[in-house]
Amino acid sequence: MSTVAPTAERPLPDRPLPRPTRESQPFWDGLREGKFMIQHCTACGRPRHYPQPVCPHCWSMESDFREAPLTGRVHSWTVCHHAFNFAFKAATPYIVVLADMDAGVRVNAPLHGVAEADLRIGLPVRLSFEVATPEITLPCLVAA
Ligand SMILES: [Zn+2]
Repeated sequence: MSTVAPTAERPLPDRPLPRPTRESQPFWDGLREGKFMIQHCTACGRPRHYPQPVCPHCWSMESDFREAPLTGRVHSWTVCHHAFNFAFKAATPYIVVLADMDAGVRVNAPLHGVAEADLRIGLPVRLSFEVATPEITLPCLVAA
């Protein structure tokens, strides 16, 4: 893979944004409304995240979305010093966290407002919301 630096002729690319699918639309609608909506299997009752058409536990295709608590704890993290997309270069270094949410699912999202030196496994975090466009609000994490 090669990377090419932006120039006047090749301006900085736009930040890549998710494209909601039929399965994920309720999750994205929830974020836009300031809610953490997670998918639950209506056959076995287990939550799952990210949204997907088939339950990974019982293979049922029946599900619904329920509002979940915004709280969780740091499971792991990485500090990104190299941007693999130039749209993120100005933000480096930035922290991406894998959080075990109290709703029983794991979320991968950027962490804002916490210094690298203060990170630890089990750190309480809360899901927050970053408006990217009128249609898309992205999840992020902050210290709880
Ligand atoms: Zn299931």
